Amino acid sequence: MHSHDSPTQGDPNPDRAVGDWPGEFSYCPMCSHPLKSRLVGSKPRPSCESCGFVHFRNPGVGAAVVLWDECGRLLLVRRGPHATRSGLWSIPAGFVDYGEDVRSGAARELLEETGLVATIGDPAWVATNTHDPAKITVGIWFTGELVGGTLAAGDDADDVGWFDLNELPPLAFDTDKAYIASLGR
Ligand SMILES: [Zn+2]
Repeated sequence: MHSHDSPTQGDPNPDRAVGDWPGEFSYCPMCSHPLKSRLVGSKPRPSCESCGFVHFRNPGVGAAVVLWDECGRLLLVRRGPHATRSGLWSIPAGFVDYGEDVRSGAARELLEETGLVATIGDPAWVATNTHDPAKITVGIWFTGELVGGTLAAGDDADDVGWFDLNELPPLAFDTDKAYIASLGR
């Protein structure tokens, strides 16, 4: 990764208060009492006056796997009808489950979306994804080494293929574009 071009990925409103993002809880998930905004650690956070629950909202974690074929082409999936940015292409990725190891999540998502099995290596890129303000994530793009499987689109993907960087299909996410641009080729 090149530290000099570490990206900020277009935070739609960096001054927005912690409790003022879309998709926030209205009721306490522990006791169902209505939540109120309260200053906790110098920031307003949805808080429960009944049981003391405070919603420290954190980004989800998305894990992507970067695979190249012997011709130097990049593996991409087309996002299916039920995925965000349907019909556009992205590097295979998905949400890491709670309690799941981040590399296991990356390998699982790759297998589900592409049918391919890879060993997961070092991170190649890290970025905050704000394309859905109701579900902000931190994305980690891992390098992968193909070890098996049969190429077939599945899960959220309805097509999969290898692409020359000079002939990329329309991409869904600015963060994928930023990573690809960082490769400088
Ligand atoms: Zn409560």
